[in-house]
Amino acid sequence: MPLLVMKFGGTSVADLARIKNAASKVRREVERGYDVIVIVSAMSGKTNELVAWVEQTSPLFDAREYDAVVASGENVTAGLMALALQEMDVPARSWQGWQVPINTTSAHSAARFVTIPRDNIDAKFAEGMKVAVVAGFQGVSAEGRITTLGRGGSDTTAVAFAAAFGAERCDIYTDVDGVYTTDPRISAKARKLDRIAYEEMLELASLGAKVLQTRSVELAMRYKVRLRVLSSFEETDENSGTLVCDEDEIMESKVVSGVAYSRDEAKMTLLRVEDRPGIAAAIFGPLADSGVNVDMIVQNISEKTEDGKSIAVTDMTFSCPVTQVGRARKAMEDARKAGIIRYDELIEDTDVAKVSVVGIGMRSHAGVAATMFKALAAENVNIKVIATSEIKISVLIDRKYMELAVQALHDTFGLDKA
Ligand code: ADP
Ligand code: ASP
Ligand code: MG
Repeated sequence: MPLLVMKFGGTSVADLARIKNAASKVRREVERGYDVIVIVSAMSGKTNELVAWVEQTSPLFDAREYDAVVASGENVTAGLMALALQEMDVPARSWQGWQVPINTTSAHSAARFVTIPRDNIDAKFAEGMKVAVVAGFQGVSAEGRITTLGRGGSDTTAVAFAAAFGAERCDIYTDVDGVYTTDPRISAKARKLDRIAYEEMLELASLGAKVLQTRSVELAMRYKVRLRVLSSFEETDENSGTLVCDEDEIMESKVVSGVAYSRDEAKMTLLRVEDRPGIAAAIFGPLADSGVNVDMIVQNISEKTEDGKSIAVTDMTFSCPVTQVGRARKAMEDARKAGIIRYDELIEDTDVAKVSVVGIGMRSHAGVAATMFKALAAENVNIKVIATSEIKISVLIDRKYMELAVQALHDTFGLDKA
């Protein structure tokens, strides 16, 4: 039997009527002759609620119990989805991660897949089951503890199952009808793309476009999974939504294909750090050990005189998620106390956002950065930090200008026009 993976996100299973609606989409594929693996998220808002319960019960929570609690949201929807399908006379059953088993590392709340053995689910398909409903976002560690994959992780569960079971396609049903040139909730001019290359989607996701979890795109690219994003609220057919695919399957060739943003960033600057070989390692080692996800880094020559003689110093700026500022500060202060680094001052700016333009066309086009900076200048948006790679340019700016910057860049690069 050909096999499809269908994933339904939180808003697509937000209540019983929507679960029924999703189930009828699954039934249609079964009627077309597919066996289906359905991956479900928790009902919309549920995971946030569970996270809040954990934090209120134990601010410095045990990560294993955090995972045990937050994974439960998906268990409820998996069971309900199986019931809804059974009500439609579709032979279905639910599977929690440990029952499959979805074996992961024991990095709680950021676990990665180790193996997904097919035997249990295949045996049930062989007995006539048509749909395996699997709880997304979760797995089980070698120690036998429940793990989770990080927020948005059900996308990754879906792609991993598509790869493990050789699915014809992995359909991600969500509350938008595809991948857009930018978040349609930020810009009314955002345009739906029929296709997008894995690499571009990977950049957009990692730069903040939460329509797909970054890791899911990585896996899809590695295992050549045909990945599609489409609406769970509209009538859809084989041509609906956006297909994430190889670069050479794409006709449209724009230099820039999307604009992404990440709202909750912070910028931290260590002023007048003693400059010597190994200083970057001495700063970023402790940050990594404290679990701070450092993103952009800028180092500038600085000046300092001590006891009448000038000494070599540098200013080191980095960005990280705003939620990790406390952790980063502590790591730096501890390193200073321990004599690992010397600096005069630590400056925090917690009101910044990152805006990025992405496109594989940038590889062969010069001048994209200049165009981007001109567009921001025309809106009087000051750039605080810049980072570039082969196919993206990111800037850190004041958060209050984020929407304005996204819209200006979307216009400048003509993304509203096909
Ligand atoms: P789900 O609950 O189905 O996993 P998410 O909320 O995680 O859905 O992802 C869908 C959301 O991603 C959309 O509602 C949209 O606001 C946001 N989004 C951000 N960037 C984009 C983009 N470029 N294209 C489409 N959606 C985007
Ligand atoms: N329910 C989880 C979350 O909200 C996983 C997911 O929906 O993909 O992050
Ligand atoms: Mg999601």
